[in-house]
Amino acid sequence: MNDITSQTLNELIKNIKDKNISSVEITKAFINRSEKSKILNSFVTENFSSALKNAQKFDDNPNFDLKLPGIPIAVKDLFCTDGVRTTAGSKILNNFIPSYESTVTQNIWNDGGILLGKLNCDEFAMGSSNETSFFGNVHNPVAKGFVPGGSSGGSASALAANLTPITIGTDTGGSIRQPASFTGTVGLKPTYGSCSRYGIVAFASSLDQAGPMSKNVKDCALLLEVISTYDLKDSTSINFKRNNYSSELSKNIKGKKIGIPKEYRIDDMPKEVDKLWSKGIEYVKDCGAEIIDISLPHTSYALPTYYIVAPAEASSNLSRYDGVKYGFRSEGNNLIDMYEKTRSEGFGSEVQRRIMIGTYVLSSGYYDAFYLKAQKVRKLIKNDFDEAYKTVDAILTPSTPSSAFKIGEKTNDPVSMYLNDIFTVPVNLAGLPAISIPAGFDSKGHPMGLQVIGKAFDEQNILNIAYSMEEKINFKSKINDWWIKNEK
Ligand code: GLN
Repeated sequence: MNDITSQTLNELIKNIKDKNISSVEITKAFINRSEKSKILNSFVTENFSSALKNAQKFDDNPNFDLKLPGIPIAVKDLFCTDGVRTTAGSKILNNFIPSYESTVTQNIWNDGGILLGKLNCDEFAMGSSNETSFFGNVHNPVAKGFVPGGSSGGSASALAANLTPITIGTDTGGSIRQPASFTGTVGLKPTYGSCSRYGIVAFASSLDQAGPMSKNVKDCALLLEVISTYDLKDSTSINFKRNNYSSELSKNIKGKKIGIPKEYRIDDMPKEVDKLWSKGIEYVKDCGAEIIDISLPHTSYALPTYYIVAPAEASSNLSRYDGVKYGFRSEGNNLIDMYEKTRSEGFGSEVQRRIMIGTYVLSSGYYDAFYLKAQKVRKLIKNDFDEAYKTVDAILTPSTPSSAFKIGEKTNDPVSMYLNDIFTVPVNLAGLPAISIPAGFDSKGHPMGLQVIGKAFDEQNILNIAYSMEEKINFKSKINDWWIKNEK
């Protein structure tokens, strides 16, 4: 048997069902490795002792019919967990202990998963590098000195470092797919309305989606199956027939039509990314798929549209943090003074920037010029995809315009930081599903990902395409435990 923490989810499940290993042994192995991996700063809150208790409970009374039988799992600290601190990476929620559980995490526990801890993320999921977190930046375990991506940076880092066998993130503009791409892991953003948003700290409500992150496509399919459920507690949850994504997984993509959008061939794209994309095209062709050149003409408007819509919704969602209802509170001379001090001390600078942009684009004088215009352009972006899907079954693009960048490299240049999302945000604006899979390395040996975008509710199809590509790519993580050597 392989070392426990480097096993995939499906391997762990098989070993636990075959009684080769117990839930306590698995949980201990992940805890031990996490103890040696503090340098990465992946965790905000550890839940180790209660994880061990729950693992023991599972072993005393095991149920192998569950989909995640006794599997310890750390989750992004944006999911509310009943009785366990939930910070959203912010000082303003530093001491917030929810009295309820998010539906997505509840689904995981109902299926036998065990909470290992809460993972670092950009503050309120605003960022692309995990550097906006109040709890400090996170390190990329497979690219020393580089960011793990964001906002689900702690999730990607913990997964790539073998501190959790699978994890969940949220993706408003790329926060699952971009960190997956930067760390050589798999990340899927489901169709808007697939996974309940109940109990997830809100960033931009019309864009936010929870999704699975894993070491391979099969694990991703299984976790999606667990977390994607219709939920009456979320008014935007959609009641559609969900597949048994893992058992219906197939490598037969013969005859599938895959679109290659010309607008994604942007200026200044590193040659390595372009080459990776061409290789991806060859792989799907080898699998029997047909390549079709397509156009998504409004692509270049996606980023400016996103950076109007997302801050607008954020400014409204974040108005609830006033020092009265939640978390941190600063003393003031009067009510207004208390509000102002709480919000200026409680929120970091990126969050404040978004609130200011958001209130500006929603203000009565500028609403029509910015917010309303952005909503119209959002519809045009959606129409582009609808038009493309008349001729293709899925779309293949790079996940990100570059591999991971250095820690600190873009912190003073928000616009260059925002440019990271150029290939991921159109998907959120259109509400579509998309998966990022590791597809190769750059000249520094850092991972790079490819993205498969599907039609709404067509998760099975993109999983199948990713599954067949994965076999051809045969990606092997270049993990070398540098941080553990440092820790000694
Ligand atoms: N990087 C994007 C942003 O900063 C996306 C974040 C996300 O998907 N949560 O808004």
